[in-house]
Amino acid sequence: MDIFGQKKKESSEVFKNLPLAFVKFLINYNSQGQPVDLTFLEVNDLLVKVAGQSHDMLIGKRLTEVSPELKTFLAESLQENKAKLTEGSNFESEIYIESRKKWFDLYVSVSDQDIITILLSDCTRRKTLEEELKHSEFMFKQLYDDSPLGLCRTSPDGKLIIANLSLAKIFGFSNVEEFTDYYASAADINGTNKGGGFFGKPVLSGNFNDHESTWVSKEGKPIYIMESAKKILDQGGEPLYIERIVENITERKIAELQIAELNHLYLEMGVDPEKNIQTIVKKACEIIQGSCSLYNRLDDKNKSLLTWSEFNAPADFKRLDKPDGHICYEATIQGKDKPVILEDLNTTDFINTDSNVKRYGLRSYLGMPVIINGKAIGSLCVVCNVPKKFTETEINIISTLSKALSLEQQRFFVEESLIKATDEAKIANKAKSQFLANMSHEIRTPLNGIIGFAEMLSSQEPDERKARILNMIEDSGYQLLQIINDIFDYSRIETGKISLKSEAFKLNELIEETVNFFHKPAQEKGLQYIINTDKITENHLLGDSYKFKQVMVNVISNAIKFTDDGSVLVIAGSIQKGDFVEVTMVIEDTGIGISNDQLDKIFDEFKQVEYYLTKKIKGTGLGLTITKKLLDLMNGKIVVESEQGKGSRFIITVPFKSGTGTMERSKEEYMNKPEIKRETDAKKIKILLAEDNEANQFLIKVITKSQDWDITIVENGAEAIEKYKSGKYDIILMDVQMPIMNGYEATKIIRQIEFEKGMHTPIIALTAYAMKSDKDICIEAGMDDYISKPFKRQQFLETINDTLARVV
Ligand code: ADP
Repeated sequence: MDIFGQKKKESSEVFKNLPLAFVKFLINYNSQGQPVDLTFLEVNDLLVKVAGQSHDMLIGKRLTEVSPELKTFLAESLQENKAKLTEGSNFESEIYIESRKKWFDLYVSVSDQDIITILLSDCTRRKTLEEELKHSEFMFKQLYDDSPLGLCRTSPDGKLIIANLSLAKIFGFSNVEEFTDYYASAADINGTNKGGGFFGKPVLSGNFNDHESTWVSKEGKPIYIMESAKKILDQGGEPLYIERIVENITERKIAELQIAELNHLYLEMGVDPEKNIQTIVKKACEIIQGSCSLYNRLDDKNKSLLTWSEFNAPADFKRLDKPDGHICYEATIQGKDKPVILEDLNTTDFINTDSNVKRYGLRSYLGMPVIINGKAIGSLCVVCNVPKKFTETEINIISTLSKALSLEQQRFFVEESLIKATDEAKIANKAKSQFLANMSHEIRTPLNGIIGFAEMLSSQEPDERKARILNMIEDSGYQLLQIINDIFDYSRIETGKISLKSEAFKLNELIEETVNFFHKPAQEKGLQYIINTDKITENHLLGDSYKFKQVMVNVISNAIKFTDDGSVLVIAGSIQKGDFVEVTMVIEDTGIGISNDQLDKIFDEFKQVEYYLTKKIKGTGLGLTITKKLLDLMNGKIVVESEQGKGSRFIITVPFKSGTGTMERSKEEYMNKPEIKRETDAKKIKILLAEDNEANQFLIKVITKSQDWDITIVENGAEAIEKYKSGKYDIILMDVQMPIMNGYEATKIIRQIEFEKGMHTPIIALTAYAMKSDKDICIEAGMDDYISKPFKRQQFLETINDTLARVV
């Protein structure tokens, strides 16, 4: 616009009426000919308004007089524009007038060398908008750079126009220029954009969405990206440029690969838990990409750390006798059930406490305790030679692997104990076989005697020898019985078929009854047999006297058996202890004694059999085993002190309930005590014998011959019932085990019949089972008493007579 040029010859009146402020100045030069100030020559009304001064105050005045603040600015500005101050020159400028707080566009025209005309137009609004625009552009640029996404704009032919800093950072660069140079010609890892460079790619493929590709970062690591591109077209539909958005999906991609590898682990696992543990440890290192991985176990006994399995670990990691301060121990095993993440070991105390950290330059650690039954037994860890920020996925992976390891470790323990149990079972089995061989020998010996002597008896022998032979047969028979009783008791205890009875008894009577039995054998061996019961303070007790007696018999008989010279001393005592009476028995002998190495074996079952096989004295070797088991059942104890060649001392303690006040209850209370009376005593006694064994039938006939009893014999329970119904018997002798119907069943039926009729026939059980509990079974079935086989004549007759006398 050349308004100044066109109008310069016209009257200044024209300017006066202009809708713009107008001023005409005379340029003032200094002595060096430099323009330094302006003098007002002419102004219009609008300028007067802008200047805020009257017309007269301006005309003829210097500008620096009117606005002193412009002094330096004006001089500088005039000198800068000196070249323009030539006649005919027009130029535009702008000025901010502080006093008015306004911006003005200046249209300047130099009409001759010294006269300058200026039109001023208020441009404050435009200027404000411009500032705002500048600011918003700045903000936009910042937003662009700070976006977490990589952004760039390229020309349609793949030349970069603009890229943000995030894009450069994704690839490991700290500024856009460096990144741009590097990637101008780079190819992606999969080589799908050969030669195109990073920015040329859209040219090849046009618009695209969520396209994944892999590149190499500045540090040479794989960078996984996902990008979308869009062509921006001009109004004519021609491509102007291409906008691209790039997302770094490296972490996600690596996590996906790690999880895939973790899943693969389960395919690699086999049946051997030890190998599986190794596989898990190796995988931990490979997936998390550490320098090495370890599975350390804390040895509880020695408080040492053992490396059970490792991958790539230095040799001296493998055992640590003092785990204190070691990362695996302090941070992981001692820690809670959570992962231990140490991203830079140099910032932790472990740099001082764990010597391996410095020695091997360890920088980061990811560990997880291995938990079994709620207790940390060790830890699985991955160690790196560089500081590392472990990802969420990696932390989850170490937790998962540690759980898998814990399962394998448990499987390992189970298998280990199974192997041990199998070995033990094999040893026990061998011992049982040896026991059976021994037992077979033990049983055959007396049997041989019985058979042999019986044979001799049937032959022609003088009478006095016959009597000796008979004695020997009897002895052999009783030896055999003892053996069988031992085996039987043992198996009853083993199968748990034994329970405790609670009956009232007098301790001194029980002890007397028991020890008296041994006077004769002790005397026969020439031993001093001393009994002391002075320490018995509590005599009325409640408990299983039968089992206690069995215990005493076993120990006293051993003392006599294993003592050839000297004495056997039995001391008994009892004392009230709280709710219980504690009974103590000391059985001391001066016999062969027991060697130290055998001392802890004598109560074991079968294990001592080997020892028995070599010994001279007979015995099943079950006596003390049974004794110990009976005492366990009674909450009692047995201890032994012994010196080989000098003698032994067995100390037995058993708690019993106090029986004071219960003594009136006699054993008979447990028997049926019917009120029924027998009709006549004078009559010949009629006996019904139910017994299937011919030899026993014969034996009973012989034993009872002298009694003039009338005995009817049947072979089973059913026949016994039939006979019972048809005849009247004074007493029934009922074998327990019989074919067709056993003795218990038969007794129950007979009792049923009698209940209806209101009568009671005494029934005595004949049983081969010698245990006390069998008596209870007989009584429960309705029998009045029992005789155990084999029986002696005297005992047999007494029981029958007693029963007849009692059940009247
Ligand atoms: P056994 O039937 O052989 O007597 P026990 O179980 O009663 O079996 O005893 C086991 C072994 O303990 C005996 O064989 C014997 O070697 C040893 N023993 C038991 N009591 C004594 C004792 N008072 N003196 C020496 N040795 C004994």
